Amino acid sequence: MSSPITPETNWAPDSWRSKPIKQCPEYPDKAALQKSISELQRLPPIVHPREIVKLKEHLRDVAQGKAFLLQGGDCAELFDYCQQDVIESKIKLLLQMSLVLIWGADKRVVRIGRMAGQYAKPRSSPMETVDGKQVPSFRGDILNGFHIDERELDPNRMVKAYHYSAATLNYIRASISSGIADLHRPLNWGLGHVRDPKLKDKYQQAVTFLKEMLRFMHTIGADKSEKLDTVDLFTSHEGLLLEYEQPLVRLLENPLTNKKEYFDTSAHFLWIGDRTRQLDHAHVEFFRGIANPLGVKVGPTTPASDLLDLLRTLNPAREPGKITLITRYGAGKVASLLPAHIRAVEDSEFKQTVVWQCDPMHGNTQSVSGGIKTRSFSDIFSELQQTLRIHKEQGSYLGGVHLELTGDAVTECLGGSEGLDEDDLSTNYTSFCDPRLNEKQALELAFLIADHYRC
Ligand code: PEP
Ligand code: MN
Repeated sequence: MSSPITPETNWAPDSWRSKPIKQCPEYPDKAALQKSISELQRLPPIVHPREIVKLKEHLRDVAQGKAFLLQGGDCAELFDYCQQDVIESKIKLLLQMSLVLIWGADKRVVRIGRMAGQYAKPRSSPMETVDGKQVPSFRGDILNGFHIDERELDPNRMVKAYHYSAATLNYIRASISSGIADLHRPLNWGLGHVRDPKLKDKYQQAVTFLKEMLRFMHTIGADKSEKLDTVDLFTSHEGLLLEYEQPLVRLLENPLTNKKEYFDTSAHFLWIGDRTRQLDHAHVEFFRGIANPLGVKVGPTTPASDLLDLLRTLNPAREPGKITLITRYGAGKVASLLPAHIRAVEDSEFKQTVVWQCDPMHGNTQSVSGGIKTRSFSDIFSELQQTLRIHKEQGSYLGGVHLELTGDAVTECLGGSEGLDEDDLSTNYTSFCDPRLNEKQALELAFLIADHYRC
């Protein structure tokens, strides 16, 4: 990109190129790569600065304890998921979970989908064995294909990713503005699968309350207000493939300040993954110049001092809500690691500026017989419950959850009220990357979080 380097920060959309980088694809065909980059540079922004700034304001409220953040979607979104029913089922699930959370936490809920661009995946190894043959690993639809004959890196996939993102977001916007989120529309709460009578009773009480509340609001006409007829659903993905992100960076006017800033217009919210958050590396360099709200994954390998250096680099102006720390330690480690991370941040100049978000998925992945990757619902809930407790003890606010989920009836995670066990995993395991909560497990998790707040 030819944007000028800003003298005060010595940053440019391409300054990351001079830094060491992890998880970077080596495209063999440089001419084809350049062609895709030029095409992306020509295309319009996928999201608008006005929307990005609006999300930032919502996240400021989350950082200050006034709202709760629900973020969820696939681990690896496929181009193939750009279909009406797949998109709708995810929007409905996020909406339904957020209703439960509003009721439980008594706070507004900000919703972000891991949707419309979550196409690039970091991999622990560049090669894998399939049918006894060594082949390049599947790195997400934006880089290569899952089919064994499509494992070569293809830069034209970045242009396809742009179009699939735009089509997905177009349908998200169209459904939301056409009333998919009407709160008085009957939702399917189906609690038939809940075997434990005490739990079922608890959930039923919540559902009865929510239905009555919606009916009441309908009766008094409160559901006619714009706030209730429509909801915001923002988009996000891991900012992993910088060859794709850079051409979508645009110097645009911030509608609040009327000053020009560099927005990454590929999504409203981007996060830096656990494998690419090295302070002196390319991803941190790229994102330090971006005006969007950003997430950073924080795990067992994050030293507390790095956390502060990351905040100083990515948010020197200490804007509240600019950075979401997405913690993911695992149920067995969270109690020994999270308190020191909280203290490092909350005892510093960044006190009450970050959104603390719990990702109870990525520290709890396990392999069961046959090498199937899964996660158990009880581990997921345990990490979340411990995280809630620790924040309370430390006097900080757990502002949100980050989940891998799908609106479909998949069988990828063990447990939950359906009692899925190892033998059930093969029934409908469709993830091409990490195991996701199905609709029932996701909703159950929302009920359990709500229960925590109401007790
Ligand atoms: C993910 O969110 O899918 C992911 C790869 O997470 P992490 O970077 O935390 O491992
Ligand atoms: Mn994942």
